[in-house]
Amino acid sequence: MSDLWRLTAHEAHEGLRSKQFTAVELTESVLARMEAVEPRVHAYITTTAEVALEQAHQADARFAAGTATPLTGVPVAVKDLIVTAGVRTTAGSRILENFIPPYDSHVYEQLLRAGAVMVGKANMDEFAMGSSTEHSAFGPSHNPWNLSLVPGGSSGGSAAAVAAGECLVALGSDTGGSIRQPAALCGVVGMDPTYGRVSRFGIIAFGSSLDQVGPIGRDVEDVVTMADCISGHDPRDSTSNPEPLPDLRHYLGRDIKGLRIGVPKEYFIAGMEEGVKARIEEALAVFEGLGCIVDRDLSLPSTEHALAVYYLIAPSEASANLARYDGVKYGYSDRSHGTMWENMEHTRAGGFGAEVKRRIMLGTYALSAGYYDAYYLKAQKVRTVINQEFQEAFGRYDVLVTPTSPTVAFPIGAKVDDPYAMYLNDIYTLPASVAGLPSISVPCGLSEGLPVGLQIIGNFFDEPRIVMAAHAFERALGWANRLPEL
Ligand code: GLN
Repeated sequence: MSDLWRLTAHEAHEGLRSKQFTAVELTESVLARMEAVEPRVHAYITTTAEVALEQAHQADARFAAGTATPLTGVPVAVKDLIVTAGVRTTAGSRILENFIPPYDSHVYEQLLRAGAVMVGKANMDEFAMGSSTEHSAFGPSHNPWNLSLVPGGSSGGSAAAVAAGECLVALGSDTGGSIRQPAALCGVVGMDPTYGRVSRFGIIAFGSSLDQVGPIGRDVEDVVTMADCISGHDPRDSTSNPEPLPDLRHYLGRDIKGLRIGVPKEYFIAGMEEGVKARIEEALAVFEGLGCIVDRDLSLPSTEHALAVYYLIAPSEASANLARYDGVKYGYSDRSHGTMWENMEHTRAGGFGAEVKRRIMLGTYALSAGYYDAYYLKAQKVRTVINQEFQEAFGRYDVLVTPTSPTVAFPIGAKVDDPYAMYLNDIYTLPASVAGLPSISVPCGLSEGLPVGLQIIGNFFDEPRIVMAAHAFERALGWANRLPEL
């Protein structure tokens, strides 16, 4: 059994439970795979083999004691903005290059409680600002389907690790598309839960009204298992929702006959690749074949404003959140200058990358006196309109189906010097983020040999319906756990 890294988490669980192999063997298989492909993929900022083997031994003990969960012994990649006590956490930034957190994030605590095995901290765009991982201070990750292409971002390392067999499942974070877009570009499944479903305690903040942690995996079942593990109320995050949680696994394998699907017109725009459009059309036919009622007449006219709204609100919140990196409290510090102010200026100038500085400047401008009403406040008002349009749509439809990204994976270097071209990549994922709605990206085939993602958006806390739709679709298409040759 040398190819254990090829298994999904639920297959691995069966193997562990029936004693076909041990958690240590499974972990060793993933670590060997990492050794073989990581130099080409660069999915990780930090690999944690020692931690992983220690956790794998504990996992085997849990199987022996009969206290295993579905994630016990499963090798997981953790995005490097999720703080892990004693393990360096950089958020992809020089300014946190040597930051060793003194505590665990809520989601990592949940993984530990479940007995999962952490194999590394995944690469990402600096502070999650980007769509390609090219803004990582530690160099870009490469798409396992074609190493000259980006894996998407900002959770590109997490998605690439899942697709390359360098973990079985991963955690990412999504502010405007950072789980769904890389999942789409790497041919895996990614879910952005409802805002408030997963605690942000111990997540390095970017845009606090948008940030949400979620899972990436090779099939819907694995993503659901991870979502169940990390969700739930946490009093340490004031926006964490106290609603009781449905067990999402309960919604796997359901018949979706009669499901009402809205397809918003505004998501079929210029700039969308023909191959992407063709796969989405075929996907809609698959849903019709499953007995769903597909309505292509839905209009969400404010969709086009989501980009502007997001790029005012997210940078505004970022400019406030990133004020804490002053060279005094933690992280990189340049103290070679005369005054406190000079030291702070040089610390920030040297510690942050260009995209992060751009966002801080944009956000500071939008929040400044005289501009606040025209930019930030206006953006919040349009955000409400976008919400209302979605709410009206959910009066008529159970879920909405759209493409995840207008294009397949693009070459490394193609958009990195053109911020607007990079921002346009998130045109389909931003609206649900702005509204705080749950959404999932599932593979829907290939275009010119590269994966295309289908996005399913649900109403607030209606993860059950997007899971039902995604799982039924995945089964009907017969695409799951398809890994590229590397
Ligand atoms: N690509 C978007 C941005 O650059 C979204 C990133 C994210 O979801 N973290 O802000």
